[in-house]
Amino acid sequence: MKKICLGIFFALTLCLLTACSGSPREYSTDFFAMDTFMSITAFGDGAEEGVKATARRVMELERLLSVTDEGSEIYALNSGRASSVSAETAELIAFALDIADRTGGTLDPTIYPVLRAWGFTTGEYSVPSAEELSGLLESVGYERVRADGDTIALSEGMMLDLGAVAKGFAADEAERILRGNGVTSALINLGGNIQLVGSKPDGSDWRLGLKDPSGEGNIGVLTVSDCAVVTSGSYERSFTAPDGTVYGHIIDPASGIPVDNGLLSVTVISDEGRLCDALSTALFVMGRDRALEFRRENGGFDVILITDSGEVLITDGIADDFTLDGAHSELTVKVIEC
Ligand code: ADP
Ligand code: MG
Repeated sequence: MKKICLGIFFALTLCLLTACSGSPREYSTDFFAMDTFMSITAFGDGAEEGVKATARRVMELERLLSVTDEGSEIYALNSGRASSVSAETAELIAFALDIADRTGGTLDPTIYPVLRAWGFTTGEYSVPSAEELSGLLESVGYERVRADGDTIALSEGMMLDLGAVAKGFAADEAERILRGNGVTSALINLGGNIQLVGSKPDGSDWRLGLKDPSGEGNIGVLTVSDCAVVTSGSYERSFTAPDGTVYGHIIDPASGIPVDNGLLSVTVISDEGRLCDALSTALFVMGRDRALEFRRENGGFDVILITDSGEVLITDGIADDFTLDGAHSELTVKVIEC
């Protein structure tokens, strides 16, 4: 009898504890960094400390990596004031150069002089002449950056811009810090670069809206956990020239001209934020066919391409996790076997 009472007592205590902690502690913060809005939501005991430490770290990385902040390491390199950088900046430069090499220079972290001429850094847009562009392209070429550990040597006129990979790198750092604080469930949103730590607190997958690149709202939903999801598209930042041409902020390093190849957006899904960020930009520059060829030759990630002819091309590793919104019957989903 005593045993039964004790059993009931424990059962009751457990129920009460579960009721109290039915929804785990949640902590969120929103802030502006790296030229975009960011938000981090984490669940569980280490959530508050983890989220605060993460936000501090993202802002610290911005101070190191910003191409426009005169106090940053990248600014010091670009202005010839320094030739060595911190270990983390060196790590990201090495990563960007490696992906530049693997993607045939479609990602090129030395594109900055060209980007600046188009006005994407200041918002004072203009269309550079062909002569101006060919002059500026002489300073572009990732293969001429010499990186030896923390020592970086740029040739005359060359400038580094890690804008295409910095948010992904920061998201990896965010995940590392949150996990270090014991967080096993979190949603990191660094200006559209999404990184998911584990699943939702109730164990179900997160539901992420996939943005409509040619309108408002989403074209569908991705139901995923424990991964990074990064989208690149010209719709993010663009301007309309006096002749009506719309130019986006991702530049084809081969021509110095903003990408206009029929792709509206590229979403990359993998375990690593930095890889997703680098590849979403590079594949956007490659265009539909080259991007799919690159994916067939290189594993380790899934991709969703949206084209201006209404195709949604999705690799087989992620196809079952995507649901097209019923209101978007104009789009055709095609699964790509890899
Ligand atoms: P976003 O930063 O809008 O999320 P991306 O990750 O695709 O988008 O990065 C675009 C940024 O990368 C541009 O704003 C610019 O700073 C830089 N950039 C543009 N074209 C290239 C390129 N071909 N290679 C490397 N960086 C680029
Ligand atoms: Mg990118």
